[in-house]
Amino acid sequence: MDNRIKGIHHITAIAGNAKKNFDFYTRVLGLRMVKKTVNFDDPHTYHFYYGDKVGTPGTILTFFPWEGIQTGRRGARQVTEIGYSVPEGSLDFWVKRLDDNNVIYNKPSVKFGEQYVSFLDPDGLKFELTVPKQPDTREPWTTNEVSAENATRGFHHITITSNKMDATAKILTDVFGYKLLEQEVNRYRFVTDAVENAAIVDIVEIPAEIAGHVAGGSVHHVAFRVENEEILMQYRDKIVNMGLHITEKIDRNYFYSLYFREPGGVLFEIATDNPGFSVDEPVEELGSGLKLPAQYEAHRSEIEQSLPKLA
Ligand code: ZN
Repeated sequence: MDNRIKGIHHITAIAGNAKKNFDFYTRVLGLRMVKKTVNFDDPHTYHFYYGDKVGTPGTILTFFPWEGIQTGRRGARQVTEIGYSVPEGSLDFWVKRLDDNNVIYNKPSVKFGEQYVSFLDPDGLKFELTVPKQPDTREPWTTNEVSAENATRGFHHITITSNKMDATAKILTDVFGYKLLEQEVNRYRFVTDAVENAAIVDIVEIPAEIAGHVAGGSVHHVAFRVENEEILMQYRDKIVNMGLHITEKIDRNYFYSLYFREPGGVLFEIATDNPGFSVDEPVEELGSGLKLPAQYEAHRSEIEQSLPKLA
């Protein structure tokens, strides 16, 4: 059982203004910034990681903020929604908070028997706050403004919009061990029982939908979680055996990764639990300093000066 895909590891999206992004996720949503680093391929751009106290896989949302980037367009071959789970009774708090902060949102609604509120972040990325049928027991990160009775617990689900649903579903079921749980109209809910949380992938099937454009306010890729590098490489073999292209193992400092484009067109990553975010700063200080990979340390002062100010 240990070599299974353990739900979602992290989700990476593209933002515009860095300060707006930082303010929205740390203050309005009340997430912890667990790592402030740079894009390893473009060190004059930040890479922000938000999550729970330690950045547990299944809570990690990351952004590349590119000032002035054009806004993307939701469409097929994309992750088009990110769902967080929130406690029962918290939706009134969230509706008021979204309202008070001039966030675009929809009134609470229900799907698959679960109540949720949807909203857009400052760049137009779509989110849902869902009250799961089974209470989510994960320990939340809390702030002065977002206490434990309201705080997000981590991911509930992602939604993929697909014009080639069978191709995407085949990876989920045949390789990742997900099962089709329920269907509402053209929304198909897949779930893995390998983990209790961050275990759901919805596919919304729209055969005539054209591919979306990945830019500001879009998800760049979704990463699925495995325990260690040995299991990571087992999945690499499985993907290769399906005749798909997949990268070599990449060291992302805080996890090891593989990337492949699933046949439905979404960029998937598989990422390890190890070594985690406390590898280069103590848990108490996560996110407080700018962390650079070794190859950029010699250029630290120049890089620091070029990055946007957050306060
Ligand atoms: Zn990633």
